[in-house]
Amino acid sequence: MKDYPHAGNMEVCPKCGADQIEGSAFNLQDESLYQEMTCLTCPLKWTEVYDIARRFTHTSEGLIYIYDRNLKKETEL
Ligand SMILES: [Zn+2]
Repeated sequence: MKDYPHAGNMEVCPKCGADQIEGSAFNLQDESLYQEMTCLTCPLKWTEVYDIARRFTHTSEGLIYIYDRNLKKETEL
């Protein structure tokens, strides 16, 4: 991964480190959120994928339910 010295820093381009980056709207697909990213300084494009691990159920009367996908556990409040 030596070609991507800035990988892991979400604020900048993973390759050149420029903070002029642009992200598309989030796309939901198969319980993951995808965001297409473009660096405005170098030609790199990449995709950020967010795994949805927890679900919170909020009602007009407050938080009632948490589901954790990794623990396969449901918590009723
Ligand atoms: Zn770049």
